[in-house]
Amino acid sequence: MRNFDYLEPVTVAEACALLKQYAGEAKVFAGGSHLTILMKQGLYQPKALVNIKKISELKGIKYDAKEGLCIGALVTHRELETSALVREKFPVLSDAEREVANIRVRNMGTVGGNLASGEPLTDLSQIFIALDGKAKISGSNRERIIPVEELFIDFYTTSLAEDEILTQVVVPPLPVRSSIEYIRFSSSSVVDKPSAGVAVRLTLDSSGNAIQTARIVLGCVGATPVRARQAEASLAGKELTPQLAEETGSAASQECNPTSDLRGSEHYKRAIVRTLVKRAAMTAYKRATSA
Ligand SMILES: Cc1cc2nc3c(=O)[nH]c(=O)nc-3n(C[C@H](O)[C@H](O)[C@H](O)COP(=O)(O)OP(=O)(O)OC[C@H]3O[C@@H](n4cnc5c(N)ncnc54)[C@H](O)[C@@H]3O)c2cc1C
Repeated sequence: MRNFDYLEPVTVAEACALLKQYAGEAKVFAGGSHLTILMKQGLYQPKALVNIKKISELKGIKYDAKEGLCIGALVTHRELETSALVREKFPVLSDAEREVANIRVRNMGTVGGNLASGEPLTDLSQIFIALDGKAKISGSNRERIIPVEELFIDFYTTSLAEDEILTQVVVPPLPVRSSIEYIRFSSSSVVDKPSAGVAVRLTLDSSGNAIQTARIVLGCVGATPVRARQAEASLAGKELTPQLAEETGSAASQECNPTSDLRGSEHYKRAIVRTLVKRAAMTAYKRATSA
């Protein structure tokens, strides 16, 4: 590893100013579970690491009845998994976290790092997008809020500018008559990243039977998380039958772009997506109709 400057700002403003000063040659360091590997492999050779762990405004999980669940960028996977507040408001997040990586990574890795790495083989982005989550971002001279979906540009590439820090993820309260289901599939017990992960959120209309809004988000089967928009649109105004769920799974499997690798062939991953979307849709629908 090359030598680098090591900096420990205590405010977001200070961190953004440092990032600006190094003009793209500095990297934000949170839990380090992703960054350390890439630095050891020589893929990143930053001139400086800006360790954000001492910035208290990036910590903690809060719930506001209007805004929703506010998750600080430094919240670890393990905190999300074990938080009583998260379990009460969005159990889908605690359940998903139980399957993320292993306990060591869950203790080190943060929500901010998970999203800001732009790594495609992850779990949280699909769920946040299906829940219409927003990302709060601070830079050296502006703040902005974007849908989580707009963070992702390409493999390991996000829309964060070189002086920007992801500060918080905000998940709005789930609309009435809604339910979400997330299912991930790993092709091997020794490979701890998913082969595919699918989030389906359904919101029913006032009849309590027909689908008003659907979100179908496919992860690990493309450079970025994918919204299966045609499959989503095909559900609007309809009651979900097993046959419609099957057709929706098939449609969604054609809207992603999986690559063949050690986690499975392209054909295999499409088949997994088809099955997971069908199952997740059926479960979400059953829960929403009986709520
Ligand atoms: C063995 C292993 C298994 C894994 N399995 C899974 C899995 O099953 N599911 C899953 O979802 N993930 C998995 N991961 C990925 C893991 O969740 C991420 O590595 C972790 O969340 C990254 O967080 P971090 O705080 O360690 O990030 P870091 O390594 O500190 O940073 C990652 C990247 O994000 C940038 N960054 C970090 N925080 C911010 C911020 N707030 N603002 C702007 N930029 C920032 C850094 O500059 C860097 O480029 C796995 C990782 C490993 C090593």
